[in-house]
Amino acid sequence: MKTDVIIIGGGASGLCAAIAIKQLVPQKSVRIFECLPRVGKKLITTGNGRCNISNKNITLERYHGEHKEFCKYALEKYNLSVCEKFFYNIGIPFIYEGDKAYPASLQAGSVVDCLRFAAEELGVIIYTDMKVTGINTMGKNYKILSNKLGFVTENVVIATGGLAGGEKLGCDGEMLEILKKAGFNIVKPQPSIVQIKTNNDITKQLKGIKLDANVSVLKDDKILRQDFGEVLFTDYGLSGPPIMQVSREVSKNGGNSISLDIMPDVTLEKLTTIIEERAKRFCARPLEEFFTGMFNKRVGQVILKIAGFKLSDKASVLCGKSQVIANIIKNMQFTVTGTTGFANAQVTAGGLDTTQFNPKTMESCDCKNLYCIGEILDIDGDCGGFNLQWAWSSAMAAANAIGEK
Ligand SMILES: Cc1cc2nc3c(=O)[nH]c(=O)nc-3n(C[C@H](O)[C@H](O)[C@H](O)COP(=O)(O)OP(=O)(O)OC[C@H]3O[C@@H](n4cnc5c(N)ncnc54)[C@H](O)[C@@H]3O)c2cc1C
Repeated sequence: MKTDVIIIGGGASGLCAAIAIKQLVPQKSVRIFECLPRVGKKLITTGNGRCNISNKNITLERYHGEHKEFCKYALEKYNLSVCEKFFYNIGIPFIYEGDKAYPASLQAGSVVDCLRFAAEELGVIIYTDMKVTGINTMGKNYKILSNKLGFVTENVVIATGGLAGGEKLGCDGEMLEILKKAGFNIVKPQPSIVQIKTNNDITKQLKGIKLDANVSVLKDDKILRQDFGEVLFTDYGLSGPPIMQVSREVSKNGGNSISLDIMPDVTLEKLTTIIEERAKRFCARPLEEFFTGMFNKRVGQVILKIAGFKLSDKASVLCGKSQVIANIIKNMQFTVTGTTGFANAQVTAGGLDTTQFNPKTMESCDCKNLYCIGEILDIDGDCGGFNLQWAWSSAMAAANAIGEK
């Protein structure tokens, strides 16, 4: 069977590309091959089910990759306002929470529904449970091999994502292997926007507690990246938005410790004075209750244990030693042992080497009419709508190139 365009992968970028091609050239036949029983399975999980669809502040600083300038053209040309219009036209007005854009429904499932409705209304043919297992060249065309049908197409758009989310979300990395065998270079994929595992038992003692902190990821005492927000202590280590945000530095750049400043607005000197004064005022109280009212009780107790005090002692023992405690509050150290891996990651850092693609069209430099879009390319964004914006922008770049032929 022959078709004009085959899109491999019915996720964010694949669905967007299919619609955009049909909007530009309705007469072109477009087919999507999706390996899972339904399209957009990962999209449904995004933004805690609310789908953080984009961000007002799309700048190159929020993106990463060996050659991250690759994404600049598409992000600027197919920017937030272009995407907002695209989604409005298929039934999804945006709303904003700070810089973050969401569908007005606040339902990720409705984004998948509207993408699917638009694709079907425009005549895109969607095949589910159809896993692509190979891509062969056939003269000027491509033969797409799958577990079901074989198809010949003039244009192939590979939108199979990375490894983040794991096999349950259709991300097994097999397409990267297929492309590697075909001669494409791969930048080693690593999990990003992911929880961080640590090797001390402090996080176990604080399990379930959330607190605001300034988070620094360090490599041999050099700060690689910092972020502020709500940290969650777990039995394996650390989670929460700022931890996810800095996790790339652990996966990709060898970050080997995390430091939390849980009172970032107070200087070390001021905090030392506060603790000294508190120790004098409450000198008769057992240390167990020393921080009660100032910190979560368990957090206060753990700080004192780290400093080597016995909780049964009286607070008077702290007099003259307040700086030691202030230091722990401003620099609570955790040794990193890794991340919780691809199954829990939101994005893949690494993927297809972007130097082998045209940044304006996403077309392969060596294989004419073969395009790669979205997370399969070595571009990953920060948490906050940046990865979906890359999926939309790269999809529109490829769609425009195909439409203009
Ligand atoms: C839990 C979670 C929450 C997230 N939240 C956000 C968020 O709020 N905002 C944000 O910007 N980003 C978020 N992301 C990241 C974002 O979802 C991805 O970056 C984006 O979906 C990538 O789009 P894609 O089209 O490249 O890949 P995907 O959306 O992963 O789509 C790839 C599709 O290809 C299919 N496929 C794979 N291999 C084959 C094959 N061989 N044959 C046929 N089909 C195949 C897969 O089943 C899948 O449907 C989140 C990710 C996760 C896991």
